Amino acid sequence: MGPGPSDVSPRVLNAMARPTLGHLDPLFIQLMDDIKSLLQYAFKTRNSLTMPVSAPGSAGMEACFVNLVEPGDKVIVCINGVFGQRMVENVIRCGGEAIKVEDAWGQQTNLNKVEDALKAHPDARIVAFVHAETSTGVRNDAAALCQLARQYDCLSIVDAVTSLGGIEVDVDGWGIDAVYSGSQKCLSCVPGLSPVSFSPRAVEFIQQRQSPVQSWFLDMNLIVGYWGQGGKRAYHHTAPVNSLYALHESLLMLHEEGLEQAWQRHQQGHVKLRDGLAALGMQFAVDEAYRLPQLNAVCIPQGVDDGAARARLLNDFNLEIGAGLGALAGKVWRIGLMGYACKDRNIDHCIASLGKVVR
Ligand SMILES: *Cc1c(COP(=O)(O)O)cnc(C)c1O
Repeated sequence: MGPGPSDVSPRVLNAMARPTLGHLDPLFIQLMDDIKSLLQYAFKTRNSLTMPVSAPGSAGMEACFVNLVEPGDKVIVCINGVFGQRMVENVIRCGGEAIKVEDAWGQQTNLNKVEDALKAHPDARIVAFVHAETSTGVRNDAAALCQLARQYDCLSIVDAVTSLGGIEVDVDGWGIDAVYSGSQKCLSCVPGLSPVSFSPRAVEFIQQRQSPVQSWFLDMNLIVGYWGQGGKRAYHHTAPVNSLYALHESLLMLHEEGLEQAWQRHQQGHVKLRDGLAALGMQFAVDEAYRLPQLNAVCIPQGVDDGAARARLLNDFNLEIGAGLGALAGKVWRIGLMGYACKDRNIDHCIASLGKVVR
């Protein structure tokens, strides 16, 4: 019950144990097409360039930036936690200029500040932000941020690593241009894959950019030869075949449950955890209005030793929770309710164990 990887269902682990097919086997190509349409369902998009990058969430992040940022490009990056800061690193490594819009850790990105930055930098090309900041438990207003980006003629890059499958992500409805997620958070698949999706506007840019994409492996112009719709599939790299079996199974499970039902289950889990922790006298670090149900940042009670308490939870109660990061290190614990892990039995165990350890 930390910030990911989350628990993986036995069904997903069993899928992973199926015999390895060739990465160009017709049966495997069928499975790739299934994964694509299941991802389109999860992302709420009709984008044809929707697929999993063969590497963890950080590679999905990198795929969005290397494809959409050209040297000299100005990118407005919203920072209110660890992952916004990583976006800045990506912009710089692409030769771009990052215009930072910073808010305190634990607070939402301030829309007025973003609009001020867009006004001050009319030549900015992209607005980038993290939808669900796993380092703090804050949900940023993705719909409003994407609308601002459009209004000022910018593309949007959205980190949905922790949001996908846990809270609503509406790629087409919000007008997101590039989005990446991760397999191991609310999708409850094994770590190591990063679903991404690019809008037609983004694809057009990628096809017409002036300079070649600096990363060969992540160049979408080359990857479409393997993951693209229809046509003949050509070898680009050897797909992580068994991990993709696992992703397929976890997406099937999400589809069977239903997206809205999955969001509801996360919200109900959060309320149950919130009430249980309140009874122990514990406080949340993030305002309820923009708190993530799947990542609960709770204040460490006065006089409790952070490391000792987490070690005891792990050793005596078989329970992992996350430590605080950066500005929140030593101040909060991060309790994940992600995907398969978000269920009553776990929540009861967490409240009971924390109660004993804190006392
Ligand atoms: C976990 C996470 C990442 C990085 O994903 P990895 O799979 O660890 O590379 C990026 N952004 C957010 C918001 C995350 O929670």
